[in-house]
Amino acid sequence: MKRLVILGGGESGVGTALLGKAKGFEVFVSDKQNIKEKYKQVLIHNEIEFEEGEHSKDKVLSADIIMKSPGIPDKVALVKHIRAQGIPVVSEIEFAANYTNATIVGITGSNGKTTTASLTHHLLKQELNVGLAGNIGDSFAKQILKQNYPNYVLEISSFQLDDIIDFKPHIAILTNITPDHLDRYDYQFEKYISSKFRIAENQTKDDYFIYDADDEMISKRLETHAIQSTLLPFSLTKTIENGAYLDKDNIKITIDNNQIIMPTANLALEGKHNIKNAMAASTVAHLLKIRKQTIRESLENFQGVEHRLEHVLKINKVQYINDSKATNVNATYYALESMDAATVWIVGGIDKGNDYNELFQFVNEKVKAIICLGVDNEKLMKSFGNMVDIIVETQFMSEAVKIAYKIAEAGENVLLSPACASFDLFENYEDRGRQFKDAVRNL
Ligand code: ADP
Repeated sequence: MKRLVILGGGESGVGTALLGKAKGFEVFVSDKQNIKEKYKQVLIHNEIEFEEGEHSKDKVLSADIIMKSPGIPDKVALVKHIRAQGIPVVSEIEFAANYTNATIVGITGSNGKTTTASLTHHLLKQELNVGLAGNIGDSFAKQILKQNYPNYVLEISSFQLDDIIDFKPHIAILTNITPDHLDRYDYQFEKYISSKFRIAENQTKDDYFIYDADDEMISKRLETHAIQSTLLPFSLTKTIENGAYLDKDNIKITIDNNQIIMPTANLALEGKHNIKNAMAASTVAHLLKIRKQTIRESLENFQGVEHRLEHVLKINKVQYINDSKATNVNATYYALESMDAATVWIVGGIDKGNDYNELFQFVNEKVKAIICLGVDNEKLMKSFGNMVDIIVETQFMSEAVKIAYKIAEAGENVLLSPACASFDLFENYEDRGRQFKDAVRNL
């Protein structure tokens, strides 16, 4: 019996444990932190051995194969040990993909993964039996075991891609590449780019690679590193023969001379970035032969994803918008760009080396007041202090929202788009977004 050791007892770890057990492995789960009660119950119920609060070296290093949770960096001493011993280390998607023949749509990029994956799933599910997994919802491994869908849309982080060997999506989407998580890549942007491109590494000419042709980093990389699969770019600025582009107010997608035209005015999601996300998702749907009318209708009725430019409430004709998931400058760039009226902007948190210059044009144009919500707001104060009439600091969401309420007038927006991570004041971005929504509802 082969021994599968799983590092990390979260959603992907426990899913892999279940799948591994069903496929005849001797499974052991090891987590340095405490394992959440609901996952512990699953392990106990399925008679899967586990430990928490430590990694016992002998129990881990006796593995034939190791599945490492994407949250654990390579720098950790135990992982170095494992590598030195030559034990194969794989990610959940690599392990799980061996047990399905499903058509896989894999989506990666710095921003827009969840939105594009959810929208793609929404378009496909109208006519196909399709699962949505990766960093969303139930793990891929668990879904293969329980549902065994013939198609999957997977949201895939670069950390998941770092530990693939044979994993190959039939259709890959690379939404964009901007600096993020560089701490995991020795602060080398090139390494992070390589990691994202691994999504296409095992693709052959019968597969497809959908990408943002306006993204300089992606275009540059393609010039020097050829990809085997068929390229289907999307662009807001160029005419694209095979792929998607914007022709005035219409999205046009052409694949082998078969064209679909969709007016952007009917898109449920706002913002230029969402036109790109819609292009990528619709290209997949068009490739997989979803009817044109179905694609158009589904783009119109897509509800969006929580914490991404989510319209919360209108109070006294002021629109409150929750974009808590904007944890970097690029995401906030698109949020501010999409603001159609004067905006009170709530920003701040843990800065990951942000360069705010690219936001200046929108702040000058659209932002009437800034509310800094973080433990350390100095950089924000310095960057934007002389750009707006009102700039204040607070460390409480309820206060931030109350101040915004006082400042904003009818027809204007209040936008939470922090451009920063949330861990200084909140548990995570979801907690931050929920606190914002609660504060708005309590006004
Ligand atoms: P991810 O899963 O890659 O983190 P999300 O879909 O959760 O991406 O969106 C994260 C943030 O980025 C949100 O603030 C969202 O409004 C913004 N965003 C969404 N799509 C894009 C895009 N194509 N380019 C830039 N920012 C985007």
